[in-house]
Amino acid sequence: MSAKRYATDVVIIGAGPAGLFAVFECGMLKMKCHVIDSLEEIGGQLAALYPEKPIYDIPGYPVIMAGELARQLEAQAKPFAPVYHLRQQVAKLAKLDDGRFDVETADGTAVNCAAVIIAAGAGAFGPNRPPLEGVEAYEGKSVFYMVKRRADFEGKRIVIAGGGDSAVDWALSLAGLAQKIYFVHRRDRFRAAPESVEKLHALAAAGKVELVVPYQLHGLEGAGGVLKAVEVADLDGNRKRLEADALLPLFGIVPQLGALANWGVTIEHHHIPVSPATQQTNIEGVFAIGDIATYPNKLKLILNGFAEAAMAAHAVYPRVNPGKELHFVYSTTQGVP
Ligand SMILES: Cc1cc2nc3c(=O)[nH]c(=O)nc-3n(C[C@H](O)[C@H](O)[C@H](O)COP(=O)(O)OP(=O)(O)OC[C@H]3O[C@@H](n4cnc5c(N)ncnc54)[C@H](O)[C@@H]3O)c2cc1C
Repeated sequence: MSAKRYATDVVIIGAGPAGLFAVFECGMLKMKCHVIDSLEEIGGQLAALYPEKPIYDIPGYPVIMAGELARQLEAQAKPFAPVYHLRQQVAKLAKLDDGRFDVETADGTAVNCAAVIIAAGAGAFGPNRPPLEGVEAYEGKSVFYMVKRRADFEGKRIVIAGGGDSAVDWALSLAGLAQKIYFVHRRDRFRAAPESVEKLHALAAAGKVELVVPYQLHGLEGAGGVLKAVEVADLDGNRKRLEADALLPLFGIVPQLGALANWGVTIEHHHIPVSPATQQTNIEGVFAIGDIATYPNKLKLILNGFAEAAMAAHAVYPRVNPGKELHFVYSTTQGVP
């Protein structure tokens, strides 16, 4: 693991709409930000859960697609040169003796900063893991939750599990490349786009994909992270052994609070209580905004996350600039870099 160390003014945990707008608000106050997110793309729920859905309650936009809003927020933050650490989950938050913080990711990246803004939504998005005994030992070696390079699966015997777009689309994409594809789903109906499902059935009819339905993943056979076979079972307990080199469990992504619960920040019912005037948590110098933050009559809306980002940036300012007076200036007067 190659540990990388950085220092900045503010670390923002979460690149969802609240976190992205916090980069802008901090930037307008001349504070530099690093942004950390477990996802590989920027945008939080907008990009991960509903990029092609229209949103109607963003002020100034009668309608905007969620994915487009994420792109606009990224563009709005860009002049302030935020440093993004994507596909990195924040594992540790430690307050140092000098009052600054070290924020560390599970991959060993560490950022030292004067203040932390937690914009973590419902938690870090990660793969929905199947409850298979010992699966961790195979992860990244023969069990994969995403396909990074199609070529890695050339000539392999693959078990793809899931019933949504991702599982069906990867079965279609890898069908010509893999030696064998088993497609495992607990029902004989799929939640994917109808035209993709039609193509899957055509591949099955042509013998290029073997549909193993209605079956669920049951166990893994192999050693040292090298898979030999995947065991599947139906609801009546009938089992099958599928000889395979790789398993792709594609059950979507889920948010998990995970390590956040161990940072010393007060958490109540999966949310972080804050002072609504400053967005500060129980730890001085640690702020929370967006869906994760709560206070009386909180509305979990994107527009509230934006306002909270502005409140937090102003509250953060004296920590980054001790003794320096903050002169409030409109963006129309100040412009952007
Ligand atoms: C289908 C759907 C429709 C919606 N429609 C609307 C609407 O019309 N109007 C509206 O206002 N709102 C809507 N919402 C809600 C809106 O999307 C959320 O309020 C908004 O995304 C919250 O923004 P956020 O920045 O607080 O968090 P999120 O968007 O959840 O982003 C948080 C980010 O933090 C990351 N993260 C968390 N913990 C860690 C960690 N430890 N390490 C690294 N990264 C971490 C996560 O991976 C995630 O990317 C909708 C939501 C859904 C699901």
